[in-house]
Order: sequence, then C-alpha cells, then structure tokens
Amino acid sequence: MSKSIVIAIDGPAGSGKSTAAKFLARELGFLYLDTGAMYRAVTYLALKYNIVEDTNSINDLVNKIFINLKYEDGVTRVFVDDEELTDKIRTFEVNSNVSIIAKIPEVRTALVDMQRKIASNNNLVTEGRDTTTVVFPEADLKIYLIASIAERAKRRLEEFRVKNPDITLAEVQKNLEERDRIDSSRAVSPLKKAEEAIVIDTTNMSIADEIDEVMKRIDLIKSESTI
Ligand code: C5P
Repeated sequence: MSKSIVIAIDGPAGSGKSTAAKFLARELGFLYLDTGAMYRAVTYLALKYNIVEDTNSINDLVNKIFINLKYEDGVTRVFVDDEELTDKIRTFEVNSNVSIIAKIPEVRTALVDMQRKIASNNNLVTEGRDTTTVVFPEADLKIYLIASIAERAKRRLEEFRVKNPDITLAEVQKNLEERDRIDSSRAVSPLKKAEEAIVIDTTNMSIADEIDEVMKRIDLIKSESTI
C-alpha cells in the first residue's frame, strides 16, 4: 500500500488555518483533523468537573476518554463518550482556559497519541500548533500561517459576536495575545515554525487569495510527487 499523505498547517489563532485546511481537505478528498478541537474538549470537561487547576485529575481524565471527531458539512463535530460537545467547546470560557490545559505534558502525550491513531493510513489535512513540528514531523507539506494581531482579533470578533453580541474587540484581542504568549512559550511542543514550513502571511488576503496561495503550493508539490 502506498504511504498516506499528510498536509499540516500550524499558526496562531485567527491566522486562517481552518479556512485553508477545510478547503484543502474537501478539494483533495482527504480527512480533516482539527487538533485544537481536542484540546478544547479536554478544557470543556475540566471546566465542567471543576478541575482546571488539578493537574492529576486532568491527567486521569485525559487517559480515560477517547475523543471522537466527525467532520460534517464544514463543522468538526466533537464527541466524548457519546456526549456531543461541538458547540460547548467554542465558548469564550473555553478560549480563556484552553492554553493552560494544553501546556500539561501528559495531556499533550495523550492527545498526540489519539491524533496519530486517527491519522493512521489516511490521507490527511491537519491543523494546530504542533502538527508540523511534533505530531507529523514527516508531513509531506508544512504550512505556517501568520496574520497581524489586529486582523486576527477582527476575524475572531466576527465569529464570537454571533453568540455573544456584547463582546468587545479589546477582549478578543487580549485573549488571543494571552493564548499566543502561553502557546509559544510552553516547555512542551510550543507553537513555532517548523524549519521547512512555508510561511504565508494572510493579513491582507481575502479567503479566496489565501486558498489560491495555498493551492499554488499544493500544485507545486503535486508536480514533484504523488499528491
Ligand atoms: O486551534 P484552536 O484555536 O482551536 O486551538 C485552541 C488551543 O488549543 C490553542 O490556543 C492551543 O492552546 C491548543 N492547541 C495546542 N496544540 C494544537 C492545537 C491546539 O496546544 N496542536
């Protein structure tokens, strides 16, 4: 059997990872794996059980659960033990706690293990913070997306306003800056550009421009390999 193909996209929140990854997965007929959804699911459960500050209990929890992701109609549906968490993981409260949970080494070990199991033998487009560096270091194509903090905050504000009309740009920006800071400075698997990753700055790009830019890289790889 031929080796499966992995396209990995990392970058900070709001840099355009999901847009690019979902489009590519659809275009290429590959599985889409949103690794952030898994850190969000653990965070939601830690908040629900009131154990955010209790690392031992979080470690017990993460080793007991299996997170099931189903990508349907543009949405990653998230299930843990038959409970659907799809909407519950996208709240401002989860956003404000997820980077703290994602710093815990045992949480990362357990989730990376699940991510590799989900990926096994599938052609895959994945996105997160360490998919190019740690989870899939052998990925066939690695992309690192960036965008200015002002642009990222603007994009996220539009998403949050749907559920939370009172949220301000300043609050969203503060949350992004805090997550960037924790995600980039943690000891295990920090957010950073993989040496061989292609950097694309999406600050002034429309979604169509971004997709175009990413597809150019795919076409380049296609002409050289098996994608
Ligand atoms: O991508 P998303 O914004 O949903 O990720 C939420 C959080 O999950 C990130 O801010 C980060 O703390 C954590 N994360 C991570 N490693 C990944 C994906 C997400 O640490 N591969």
